[in-house]
Amino acid sequence: MPGTIGGYGVELFFQCPVKQAGFWSGQWLVDDDLEVCLDQDKRKSLRGTVRVSCPLCGEEHVYAPDALACPLRAAGHDPVKPPNNKGGA
Ligand SMILES: [Zn+2]
Repeated sequence: MPGTIGGYGVELFFQCPVKQAGFWSGQWLVDDDLEVCLDQDKRKSLRGTVRVSCPLCGEEHVYAPDALACPLRAAGHDPVKPPNNKGGA
């Protein structure tokens, strides 16, 4: 599967270390050396840094991709198993 990184317009949640507050921003940048790695548990992890211009304090912050909240995970996609109740006859 293709790992597309850095789609602008995708809002991510960042934490401002200066204001101690979080904010959503779609104006983030990834460094060129960002790459997707698989660790021993076959979980995807990102190497590199993500930069974002902070609207709270006006400075630029640098984050590790692992520290960012995944928008898909934040949406809470939990597979719901419906009871397999096949009533025949
Ligand atoms: Zn900030």
